[in-house]
Amino acid sequence: MTPSFSRLILGIWRVGEWDLSPSGLANLIEGCLDLGIDTFDLADIYHSYQCESLFGAALAASPSLKSRIQVISKCGICLVTPNRPSHRVQHYDTSRAHIVASAEQSLGALGLERLDLLLIHRPDPLMDADEVAEAFTQLRRDGKVAAFGVSNFLPRQFDLLQSRLDLPLVTNQVEVSLLQPKTLYDGTLDQAQERRFQPQAWSPLGGGRLSREPIDSPLGRTLARLGQERNATPEQLAIAWLLRHPAGIQPILGSGKLERIRLMAEAQEITLDRQTWFELLEAATGQKVP
Ligand code: NAP
Repeated sequence: MTPSFSRLILGIWRVGEWDLSPSGLANLIEGCLDLGIDTFDLADIYHSYQCESLFGAALAASPSLKSRIQVISKCGICLVTPNRPSHRVQHYDTSRAHIVASAEQSLGALGLERLDLLLIHRPDPLMDADEVAEAFTQLRRDGKVAAFGVSNFLPRQFDLLQSRLDLPLVTNQVEVSLLQPKTLYDGTLDQAQERRFQPQAWSPLGGGRLSREPIDSPLGRTLARLGQERNATPEQLAIAWLLRHPAGIQPILGSGKLERIRLMAEAQEITLDRQTWFELLEAATGQKVP
C-alpha cells in the first residue's frame, strides 16, 4: 500500500546545526507527532552522509517512534568528502547498483527495515530510466522501499522515468516558495495536478531568508501588513501561501526548534483568499500579473 504523508513534513538536512543529543532529537520527533507531523525528510548525503545515522540514533533512543513515523530518504548525488574517499569529483549515480546499495545503506544507518519513500535527489544526465526502474522494482519486491519519487525533476524528466514504471511516482520534491515563485510556472505543479500526486516544497522559507526579509522591501512590507491584519507571522503566511495552492503542496519545514514548528503547524488554520494570495505573489516577484 502507498504510504500517506502528513501535510507538513520536517526536513532533517540541518540536523548538524541543531546540536541535539539522540534523546533531544527523539523529543523533537515526538513533538512533531503531537503537532500532526509524522513525516521526516532525509537524504543519504545530508550532514556529509551522517544525518541518517543521527536520526537512527534518535530512533534507537526511543524505539516506539519507528512505527509512528514515515521516513523519506534520497539517493543519487555523490559528494566529495572524507566520508566517501572514492569520490574524486561531485557527480550523480542513478545506476541500479548505486540506488540499491544507497537504499540499503540508508536502512542500516536508520535502523529501519523499510523506507516509506525513496527519491532520486536530482536529475542525472546519465540516467538510464530502465535501470532506475529495475532498481525500484527490486527494492519494492524485497520490501525495502514502499514508494518512490523524484526531486528537482522537470516534468519531462518525470515523464521519462514514469514511462518505465508500473507504480506511480508519488512526488516531485522541488523548491517553491515566496522566495522561489518561478516554480509555479515551470509545469511541475500542473503535472502534479494532472497526475494527482502531491509535490513537496523544500526551503519553504527560502532557507531562513524570508525571516530576514527587510521590512522596507515590497515582500517585507506586505508580510508585515498582512501579518498585523491576520495576527500571523511572516513565516506562517509563507506556509499558508503554499498550502493554498490546489496541487496540495506539502511544505518541508527546516527548523530544528519546536516552538517555530508549532507556529508553522498553526498556519494550516490560515486560509488566504485569492486576492491576498496574488498580493503576496506580486510582492514576491515585484510584478503585477499581466
Ligand atoms: P526553510 O524552512 O526554508 O529554512 C529553515 C531555516 O530557517 C532554519 O535554519 C531555521 O532556523 C531558519 N529560520 C529562521 N527563522 C525562522 C522562523 N521564524 N521560523 C522557522 N525557521 C526559521 O527550510 P530548509 O531548511 O532550507 O529546507 C527544508 C528541508 O527541505 C530540508 O531539511 C531538506 O529536508 C529539504 N531540502 C531538500 C532539497 C532537495 O534538493 N530535495 C534541497 C534543500 C532542502 P532554526 O532551526 O533556528 O529555526
